[in-house]
Amino acid sequence: MASQITRKEYDLAPLKNANLPMIWVLGGPGSGKGTQCDLIVKKYGYTHLSSGDLLRAEVASGSERGKQLNEIMQKGELVSLDIVMDLLKEAILSKLSTSKGYLIDGYPRDISQGEIFEKEIVPCTLILFFDAKDETMKERLLSRGKSSGRVDDNEETIMKRLKTFHDLSAPVVDHYKIKCKTFSAELPPQEVFCAVSKCLDAIQQQASA
Ligand code: ADP
Ligand code: MG
Repeated sequence: MASQITRKEYDLAPLKNANLPMIWVLGGPGSGKGTQCDLIVKKYGYTHLSSGDLLRAEVASGSERGKQLNEIMQKGELVSLDIVMDLLKEAILSKLSTSKGYLIDGYPRDISQGEIFEKEIVPCTLILFFDAKDETMKERLLSRGKSSGRVDDNEETIMKRLKTFHDLSAPVVDHYKIKCKTFSAELPPQEVFCAVSKCLDAIQQQASA
């Protein structure tokens, strides 16, 4: 029998009342999501959350839930979406008193994940989509792989990640067209950030208007 992880109850009213920007950051592997999120955090004080990092941190914390997660991950099974959602909720709520907004990096991975997030947490305000050619992303990941120590930064896995991105994640951008701003991620990081800043300055102005 699959191990059951207990879900918790969360009071999301304070988050809803705070009405902070909830920004999904999407793009293929190696498109520069992490790079741009770091720059955004420095300039705008937003909180950067990545679902993969949250799962790895929960395992590393040694909590009971982390131990159960580790078992599931070691068996190569997929961690249920409920757990990812709970980790996101906890991380979002724990930063509420100091956060100026949230960057949700690399989530949703498909349309259904997006719909569940909006139903259970709050609607997404804006999507930043970093658009790069497969060849560009592949080259960047291969060079990141030389120092990242990430087991998935090798050529074979990169090709699979690119395929998964095109099959499942790219349709999210299309589905949420009205909320989505697309940036060419082929340009150098500071130039991409310049375009991103213009977009974020505009939403800050709208919020304070
Ligand atoms: P992601 O989080 O989308 O997987 P990263 O931000 O980790 O991507 O970037 C992947 C690699 O590409 C890193 O080595 C990073 O330094 C490099 N990189 C990111 N953005 C750019 C860019 N605009 N131009 C050139 N290299 C970039
Ligand atoms: Mg990343």
